[in-house]
Amino acid sequence: MEENLKEKLFNKKEFGWKNLSSEEKDAIFTFSNGYINFLNKSKIEREAVISSKEIAEQNGFRDIATFERLNPGDKVYFINRAKSMYLAVIGTEKLENGINIVGSHIDSPRLDLKPNPLYEDTGLAYFKTHYYGGIKKYQWTTIPLSIHGVIVKPNGEKICVNIGEDENDPIFVITDLLPHLAQDQMEKKLKNGIDGEDLNLLLGSIPYDSKDAESVKLNILNILNQKYNITEADLLSSELEVVPAFKARSLGFDGSMVAGYGQDDKVCAYTSLSAMMSLQNIKTTAVCILSDKEEIGSMGNTGMESHMFDYFISELLNKTGENRPNLLDKVFCFSKMLSADVDAGFDPLYASVSDKTNAGFLGKGISLNKYTGARGKSGASDANAEYVAWVRNVLESHDIRYQVAELGKVDIGGGGTIAYILANKGVDVIDCGVPVLSMHAPYEVTSKFDIYSAYKTYKAFWEA
Ligand code: MN
Ligand code: MN
Repeated sequence: MEENLKEKLFNKKEFGWKNLSSEEKDAIFTFSNGYINFLNKSKIEREAVISSKEIAEQNGFRDIATFERLNPGDKVYFINRAKSMYLAVIGTEKLENGINIVGSHIDSPRLDLKPNPLYEDTGLAYFKTHYYGGIKKYQWTTIPLSIHGVIVKPNGEKICVNIGEDENDPIFVITDLLPHLAQDQMEKKLKNGIDGEDLNLLLGSIPYDSKDAESVKLNILNILNQKYNITEADLLSSELEVVPAFKARSLGFDGSMVAGYGQDDKVCAYTSLSAMMSLQNIKTTAVCILSDKEEIGSMGNTGMESHMFDYFISELLNKTGENRPNLLDKVFCFSKMLSADVDAGFDPLYASVSDKTNAGFLGKGISLNKYTGARGKSGASDANAEYVAWVRNVLESHDIRYQVAELGKVDIGGGGTIAYILANKGVDVIDCGVPVLSMHAPYEVTSKFDIYSAYKTYKAFWEA
């Protein structure tokens, strides 16, 4: 009797792997293989755009510039400066009645090269770096690193760089002090153990000609000149990003998890992109955002704070023939969004930072954050109860496992996403993503069950 009452009244929050059909389990593992493949090809935002464009075109999406008119069922994309991307499937309803947006980001914490990166010291050549996003600096020493990005010459020629991923490529490394001599370093606070100015990448040690000063540097420049046809000055107009060289892999004896770099937030990018590819005959226009610069505050013309997204939606209004003065504001005020960004997963090794009753757990499905922010919800976009209820209804009617969580205990810290940017335009928004362990580390951990739940969630949202 009492058991029945519990069954009826408790929010059970069970782990998803329990009582899973073998078909569902197969679907989860197959989907995750595609995701691991995407991660390995898309370590930086520019590569994520290339991979996403390829997937989109294979599924019938075309550049919006090639359309003169848009009709229901049309599938379009727009690439912003090779670093962020918007996609849309036009629905049968008018856009002015609102659109359904899923927004993730494809930039991840990393080390950028400084504008004048190359120097030589005591027979060793280095690239100086400037870290991007919230990192724990000590995690970036003594691991294999690769270099990705572009060098653009004054004549506009763009050279793509990707070195350290192929088995035949060399890798690079940032050294750390041996424990024998680290007495003083070990007394420092963890955050000061490695200095930002010491995150220098070791590049080479053979001199070009032993008579010259800076001959090792010269040799490196000569190699770069032969390989990429560049000079030192060409590095001034480059965007070269240093990222972990290791590959994303299945984690655990049971293969239930994914370990990989940049899962914040490519896990939500890939799952939402995949969901968008599956859409057919939808009512409400579906829009997918793959944004850049989230990790450093979403500023600039490839970040969500820019007006580029407004421009894209205006183009949809223009090309569907719907546009009239100020209609864009109305579109946003009647729209819904899932801000698809990762959540801090509960880590039993660091249980003290979480409120177990309100934490997101690996393997319990997609994690919703009604609000983020810090301290007294400072800077939070707090989703309205009415909207949370609407989202719950979508999830529950599709039997999708979900959890509603907070990012850590009150007053411990906090975080933010792109949610507030769209909410400020008038959109109903809730954060909704995959829980991650070791977030922002060179190797992050997610659960395959949650990855597949994210895919199902974004699909159900767009089809609602
Ligand atoms: Mn994120
Ligand atoms: Mn992040």
